[in-house]
Amino acid sequence: MVNSGSINQLHFLLIPFLAPGHIIPMIDMAKFLAQRPNVTVTIVTTPLNALRYGSTLQEQIKSGLPVCFLELLFPAIENGLPEGCESADALPGLHLLPNFAAAVDMLQQRLEQHFDSLEPPPSCIISDKYMLWAGDTAAKYEIPLIIFDGMSCFKQLCTHHLYASKGFDDLTETEPFVLPGLPDRIEITRAQLPPEFNHRHVATSEKLEQVRETESKFYVRIRENESRAYGMVINCFEELEQDYVNKFKKLKRGKVWCLGPLSLSTSNDSGKSLRGNSASSDDQLYLKWLDSKEPGSVVYACFGSSSQITPPQLIELGLALEASKSPFIWVIRAGDKAQEVEKWLSENGFENRIKDRGLIIRDWAPQLQILSHPSVGGFLTHCGWNSVLEGVSAGVPMITWPQFAKQFLNEKLVVHVLGIGVGVGAPGVVHWGEEDRFGVTVKSEQVKTAIEKVMDSGSEGIERRKKAKALGMVAKKVIKEGGSSHHNLTLLIQDLLELANVRSQKPLI
Ligand code: UDP
Repeated sequence: MVNSGSINQLHFLLIPFLAPGHIIPMIDMAKFLAQRPNVTVTIVTTPLNALRYGSTLQEQIKSGLPVCFLELLFPAIENGLPEGCESADALPGLHLLPNFAAAVDMLQQRLEQHFDSLEPPPSCIISDKYMLWAGDTAAKYEIPLIIFDGMSCFKQLCTHHLYASKGFDDLTETEPFVLPGLPDRIEITRAQLPPEFNHRHVATSEKLEQVRETESKFYVRIRENESRAYGMVINCFEELEQDYVNKFKKLKRGKVWCLGPLSLSTSNDSGKSLRGNSASSDDQLYLKWLDSKEPGSVVYACFGSSSQITPPQLIELGLALEASKSPFIWVIRAGDKAQEVEKWLSENGFENRIKDRGLIIRDWAPQLQILSHPSVGGFLTHCGWNSVLEGVSAGVPMITWPQFAKQFLNEKLVVHVLGIGVGVGAPGVVHWGEEDRFGVTVKSEQVKTAIEKVMDSGSEGIERRKKAKALGMVAKKVIKEGGSSHHNLTLLIQDLLELANVRSQKPLI
């Protein structure tokens, strides 16, 4: 006996990791998926995350977009976390990272309790690379697993070849070497490599040692999961990094789909303002402030949702913004060091001195809205991948100041491959939890020089701006019908339907 009747519907289960830089793009992906005929999407997350990020989707869900949230209670207290701590950016300290990881692991069982009642039955899991149990769940229910890594094919190729190559192990921290296996010649130092390649890095306390152990186990499990996944979806577009896409696809036997820029699934003002947080009445104020500035004149400085920059380093940045003479928006997220930073801003008279030219936003800014405003002419970024791609999509050149993780690789792409950015000269990864030990690694003069180069009206500045604008135009086209990312989503859906049909034809007995 064989199954009969062909399958023409897909139900995607999206499992994002619990941190803004991971949930936001997956919510964006849910919109693109659910706009396709015969596709439904369930986003698996926790109640507070559904509340925080769901608002961007509510209007569309009301008008029929087939997306829903499956809310799993987060075992915070059971794992020694404060109540309500459901996101990595809400952790009161890095020492609780192992507890957070344990709580995230417990979500597997909670999801599986709901599995049989999901309607229609899930046909595919798209899981963040950090949701390490998703591979087991997919295997148990015999559905394909697709990994969402959240970064570019450039980064995928870099890490693939770094794992394969040991050629840099004997080098000093600051000796440049050429990144192996890439179509372009790009130099990097050991100090700039992502933590999994910094074997010599030693944690400075017992607590940190535990954190590093959790991280190392993470990397091993991520690679195991990736090797058994059916494929990978990438938040990028082919035209941005065609050579890298081709090479990475070859490595993955074609099962790679570039669907980005995912942020462009949000096109209206209210969606942009709500993205990642509740809209605040101040958003209108920011826009009015931007309206009062010359086109292309403003520098927007923001370090994402999870960078922990020390007050002395933040002060260097503030002084550079002041000295550069361009109008600026500076998003300050100082966490538990906020008091110290506020003291400097007020007592030292900084806020008063820059009040006609600078706007300070505390904690969270409507980044998409700001970047797409015509007055913004430069983006000073920590090179988190979402921010980089949002800058590309807005057609804005970048001042790059990577901090940790894969951000130095992202900087290399922006500055050396795409030619749309200038680096501040950050020497190396500032390891999470050890920011104070690293102190000030970038001086205000370096930042000022990079800002001035990007905002410059000379030929280099003009060329950089032209390139950025051209890429921004391509980015806006690729997600529309006829564009590469739109087409790739069609191919992904076709591939999964074919797979589902082949599997359903398997003899039942
Ligand atoms: N973001 C925002 N406002 C902020 C800070 C961050 O809207 O004040 C958004 C930003 O647009 C991006 C995400 O949060 O979509 C941050 O992701 P990214 O990969 O850039 O950095 P991470 O926070 O993961 O380090």
